[in-house]
Amino acid sequence: MIIEIVTLGKIPREVLVELSRRLEKTYAPHIKSCAIGASLEIPPAAYNPSRKQYDADLILERVLHRITGEHRVLVLLDVDLYTSSRDLNFIFGQAQSPGRVALVSLHRLNPPFYGKPPDPELFLARATKEAVHELGHTFGLKHCTDPSCVMCFSNSILDVDKKKSTFCKTCRRKLHRQTTFTIRVWR
Ligand SMILES: [Zn+2]
Ligand SMILES: [Zn+2]
Repeated sequence: MIIEIVTLGKIPREVLVELSRRLEKTYAPHIKSCAIGASLEIPPAAYNPSRKQYDADLILERVLHRITGEHRVLVLLDVDLYTSSRDLNFIFGQAQSPGRVALVSLHRLNPPFYGKPPDPELFLARATKEAVHELGHTFGLKHCTDPSCVMCFSNSILDVDKKKSTFCKTCRRKLHRQTTFTIRVWR
């Protein structure tokens, strides 16, 4: 299986290269590679002027319509996201679970958002955690109660910084089960 990173809007190339390298490492041996794919425009209809945020569900739906093939898609964008399906001020990301598309916003992962100096390593570590997390949902993984597990739900940036970028033993086992079952169709 291949993960394709699709960007909506401008994301620095070096962030994409390093993130794909880290995703390959974390998801080995379940994925073959993580490729940097298309760069698309953010659908203007996704912007909600009263919230000053973008509708993650609408973006997910639009991307889903555009993709072909069997690979998994990680959509990266730099705008603030919300979902109408849950009562939250914002979300770091959203995914089909199980499914093919995961969405991660880098907007609130960058230290300057919190008035802190730029820190490329911290920024990348956060992006990796959220990407691993949302992709985990596409493999059918649910939220984990282990606060250090990457599948633990993050309500704030403190939660993101607290958890690791890797799966706990239970989630790793579940991931293994989800990715090794093959469906055979007998004719
Ligand atoms: Zn989640
Ligand atoms: Zn876990």
